[in-house]
Amino acid sequence: MTTLHRTPPPRLLVATLNPGKRRELRRLLADLPTALVGPADLGLDLDVAETGDTFAANAALKAHAFAAAAGMPALADDSGIEVDALGGFPGVRSARWAPGSDADRVAALLARLADVPLPDRTARFRAVVVLAWPDGTVLDAEGVVEGRIAERAVGTGGFGYDPVFLVEDGGYDGRRTMAELSAEAKDRLSHRGRAVRRLSAALRAAWRVG
Ligand code: IMP
Repeated sequence: MTTLHRTPPPRLLVATLNPGKRRELRRLLADLPTALVGPADLGLDLDVAETGDTFAANAALKAHAFAAAAGMPALADDSGIEVDALGGFPGVRSARWAPGSDADRVAALLARLADVPLPDRTARFRAVVVLAWPDGTVLDAEGVVEGRIAERAVGTGGFGYDPVFLVEDGGYDGRRTMAELSAEAKDRLSHRGRAVRRLSAALRAAWRVG
């Protein structure tokens, strides 16, 4: 385990080009004592190949590449949905396994599960967040939220697979999709919210802030 820096950096790069993730990460990191910047603020247009076969490996690839390019600590998220009836697929390939937009991949997922009854459609979102400093110091955390794939898309909040993810976690009983929750409610229970809160607790302890 690396020893964390004892002082907050003046700026931290939220290293994602995905607008849905960026919105959520900025909200979740807002109370850390450091200014948040995005790749566009720095004129950084970096396309990191996600060649790892785990969320942790891909998040680390992105965080280290952005930290090196920006010369400041960079936080990256690698995340996706794991469907039990498909042996955990699409998992790390959630953003790329079928062509087109997020909505196209949601439709393709529903088509793959057309013959799978609701009781067998259990799934989870998983996120790994990695914060890397240019000197190689690194901190990571993981979060998971349990649920089930709905038979049709409902709701307009969030992004990606949220409209077909029936939440069965954090007090929800599977009657609402993630896309029907408010931003605050999603942050409270989401895989990303859980991962970032674990990471920021470790940072706060290192930085001795409340
Ligand atoms: P990547 O981490 O850039 O490989 O992409 C992750 C993909 O997983 C996203 O493009 C979404 O399709 C999906 N995903 C990750 N987190 C969420 C979420 O909070 N809601 C819905 N879909 C998500």
